[in-house]
Amino acid sequence: MKKQRWRWTKGKLWFCDSCFTSIRVKRNYKPEHCCNGFECGCYGMPINPVFCDKCEQKIFGKVLR
Ligand SMILES: [Zn+2]
Ligand SMILES: [Zn+2]
Repeated sequence: MKKQRWRWTKGKLWFCDSCFTSIRVKRNYKPEHCCNGFECGCYGMPINPVFCDKCEQKIFGKVLR
């Protein structure tokens, strides 16, 4: 059985925002920040975080379609 490991065959190396395992993201991916998290609910985290498949399942429960 062939298992597709990466969602994007081409992309750049990035790190999961949760467990920091290396993943591949879209080449045009850029982390966007709301602010540095001071007195803000964003906690300085990127507003478009990327996660590895494991964390994505942990966080979203199911793979969203
Ligand atoms: Zn992860
Ligand atoms: Zn903020």
